[in-house]
Amino acid sequence: MNKFDRATRKYYYDDAHLSECSARVVKIGGDYIELDETVAYPEGGGQESDHGVIVSLEGFEIRFVHVRKMYTTRVHIPDMPDIGVDGVIEHVVHDDDKGLLEKLRLGMPVVVRIDVMRRARLSLSHTASHLVYLGVSEVRPDAVAGTLGCHIRSDAARFDFAVSSRFLPDELAEIERLANAFVTRNSRIHMYAHAEYRDARYWECEGRVIPCGGTHIDSTTPIGSISVRRKSMGSGKERIACEFAQAMPEIDAFHV
Ligand SMILES: [Zn+2]
Repeated sequence: MNKFDRATRKYYYDDAHLSECSARVVKIGGDYIELDETVAYPEGGGQESDHGVIVSLEGFEIRFVHVRKMYTTRVHIPDMPDIGVDGVIEHVVHDDDKGLLEKLRLGMPVVVRIDVMRRARLSLSHTASHLVYLGVSEVRPDAVAGTLGCHIRSDAARFDFAVSSRFLPDELAEIERLANAFVTRNSRIHMYAHAEYRDARYWECEGRVIPCGGTHIDSTTPIGSISVRRKSMGSGKERIACEFAQAMPEIDAFHV
């Protein structure tokens, strides 16, 4: 079990469109705030974290510019990369707002609110990245076997692969075509949790399943279109990046 006696309640798994929640201050660090509950998604699995504010009932706001999951317990689940479950979520405070930390008290009630445009863009980007990955898995299964990592930003996403031969123009065109076909079909996205571990989650689209604990959108249409390009990262290493110039982030889907 967790070496800590506590774990943050993570509302982003209950409802990916919840923009804020009430919480209480559990710990005040030198540059971060831990709450008992949060809607803020931490950096993980290559996806950048949410940004947002922690609002005190006394009227002051503290901006957070990074969110991290700490003190998790590593578990091994078949057909899934080893992951950290439970743990606490730390909201890293903007440099200019650190002076406000001294106004907080343990147990103080607050509201934590995320930047919904950033979350909407990250969820869209993350979903699109999976469609590109499915395209790569069709065209270049050797590359998928050599996946080195990914980085999901709000405006773009990329994967790095260890490969013995570079991606050819025809292969890139086919990967892009396959990814965009998912968008054209307006495919539904389903997320679900592992039966035993709530933090172990799966992404599913048209029967294709990818273990992933990130945030995603519910269907593919808002992605608009996906453009794919490659970059050589030196011998034996290729980067596949995707962008979505016609993205339509769904901020209207968020609620309090
Ligand atoms: Zn994902």
